[in-house]
Amino acid sequence: MTGTVSLEASTARSWLAELAWSPALGLRSDVLIEASGDRFTRVTPDVSGPAASGATRLVGLTMPGFANAHSHAFHRALRGVTETVGGTFWTWRERMYEVADRLDPDSYLELASAVYAEMALAGISCVGEFHYLHHGPGGVSYTDPNVMGRTLIEAARRAGIRITLLDCCYLSGGLSGDGRQQPLEGTQLRFGDSSGAGWAVRVDALRPDAVGRIGAHARLGAAIHSVRAVPPSEMPDVAIWSHRYGAPLHAHVSEQLAENRACLAAHRATPAEVLADAGALGPRSTAVHATHVIASDIELLGGSRCHVCMCPTTEADLADGIGRARAVADEGSPLTLGSDSHAVIDLLEEARRVEHGERLTSGERGHFTAADLAAAASTVGHASLGWPEAGELTAGGLADFVTIALDSPRTAGAPRAAALESVIFGASAADVRCLVVSGRDVVTDGHHMLVPDVPLALSTAIGTVLG
Ligand SMILES: [Zn+2]
Repeated sequence: MTGTVSLEASTARSWLAELAWSPALGLRSDVLIEASGDRFTRVTPDVSGPAASGATRLVGLTMPGFANAHSHAFHRALRGVTETVGGTFWTWRERMYEVADRLDPDSYLELASAVYAEMALAGISCVGEFHYLHHGPGGVSYTDPNVMGRTLIEAARRAGIRITLLDCCYLSGGLSGDGRQQPLEGTQLRFGDSSGAGWAVRVDALRPDAVGRIGAHARLGAAIHSVRAVPPSEMPDVAIWSHRYGAPLHAHVSEQLAENRACLAAHRATPAEVLADAGALGPRSTAVHATHVIASDIELLGGSRCHVCMCPTTEADLADGIGRARAVADEGSPLTLGSDSHAVIDLLEEARRVEHGERLTSGERGHFTAADLAAAASTVGHASLGWPEAGELTAGGLADFVTIALDSPRTAGAPRAAALESVIFGASAADVRCLVVSGRDVVTDGHHMLVPDVPLALSTAIGTVLG
């Protein structure tokens, strides 16, 4: 296995999209999309006749590839198996630790490759993997202390998608109710590094280039797991590392009310305030969830232009609560989307739930347009993962796109002018017909071109892990 793998881009290609949408393009018909290698060379609407001869026809709505800005690949093994036992986030976490405990580099490669292949089938061209399962049982480092991270990078390559490995600093086992930092114990020992500085030394051994790239399809980012898992004194080392490489810096923020209470008891500050004090908030940062942020936190996040990544299906599945999407966006935080625990992998579902959450809490419709939500799923998400050259249908950009059927049982009948609204509010991952990443076919006619039987790959890998 190698950390410097690359996607094989094809040479010059062209496609003719019957309908295409992107933030820059708007909704246009008969869009000729041309690429050379891994980049778009020209995107031209209203093309017909001989100019489009030889182009591959894209039937449906073509959009920038989706960016899944928050993923824990191994959580996918828990889909369905925790739904009959009740409990809370905290009891679910115990089951999640049991899965983490069983993984090794071989089984994680098999599992993550299958999960990322499922993502490709859902139109996801890039994943932000919030990675904290670093070490072997008992916290003993593998011979290569980054072997699990390299495994995830290789898994993304096998699935044909791009990855930002958000390598996570995780140093303590949580905050007690009265605010004391707890030692790592049990499975958590596999997540830990000695300190923030020790984390940085380990991550540097992945040998990123000057801007954090570790291959054509992979780049490194940093993550502070949460105020529960990283003492404030250790956070600056992680923030400084991210600043050195201009890398993304992600953190779970205020996912749980109990986290807020313990943080206030420990630090007399909210989680957002602790991160701000550590230099961890800014335009390259992402606050994941931000479900229970208070008004001053929303100002702090927005004022720093920190992204907020909402994961509504996971937040609903784990009974976390409904985040304040409109408020954080209004204060200046660009929104992104993640499938997080992979209760489902469907960014269209995540997108519409952001609007639905606002409707359920306000009693009114129309807080986000379909274009707002589509941008969160694509352009903004890519930027938050350190790929500003992806997520748009434009010359010079990375040649990624997804095509979604407009003739499925879920999308048929919508007027062409409402194609984007039909897709965002009615389509599902099952309607994804094509995915091209870096100019290369990854999904064609609904079939994965690199992983021939994704359900079999998932069931085999999950069977190995669950036993
Ligand atoms: Zn998470």
